[in-house]
Amino acid sequence: MKIGVLALQGAVREHCQAIRACGAEPVEIKYVDQLQEIDGLIIPGGESTTVGKLMVRHEMIEPLQRMGAEGFPVFGTCTGLILLAKDIHGSDQPRLGLMDMTVERNAFGRQIASFEMDLSIPEIGGPDFHAIFIRAPYISRVGPGVRVLAEYEGKILMARENNLLAAAFHPELTEDLRIHRYFLEIVSNYIK
Ligand code: GLN
Repeated sequence: MKIGVLALQGAVREHCQAIRACGAEPVEIKYVDQLQEIDGLIIPGGESTTVGKLMVRHEMIEPLQRMGAEGFPVFGTCTGLILLAKDIHGSDQPRLGLMDMTVERNAFGRQIASFEMDLSIPEIGGPDFHAIFIRAPYISRVGPGVRVLAEYEGKILMARENNLLAAAFHPELTEDLRIHRYFLEIVSNYIK
């Protein structure tokens, strides 16, 4: 199973390590043609306006919109979550817009740029997940097709819409592979 990690900007290496640790093959994606070689794609954290502009420049937006709508699995962490959202509060920045949800960027205030917390995510099983947030967004609204997988004090922090998965935090920065495994399961169902 080949999992692409969008490598235009952001935390690419840690996702590749996590994918390898799960027994799959990571592929750094820099060009649109490479999308044909992979079974699923991770969009890592970074700066969503920059990554969105680079995706426009690399002509990746439309092909990924088409693939995502046809069932191709995409997992967005942090910036990736923002780019998956249909609505970004107060912004018209480029995006994939594949998930029916509204996100708030830098939503935890500037003074707490990053923080960590143990988050209950029943869907992945086991104990709370140690979640690391870096200038994180959160989801403020989800449409009827979107399932909330984790929330804290009314802020949605992880969600899934069929083949699309989004997390406001950085699972690649911990040793815990449960969320990457969960995504790989979505991918293996897509291949079948
Ligand atoms: N605040 C960033 C943005 O708006 C996201 C931060 C991150 O990916 N860690 O893109």
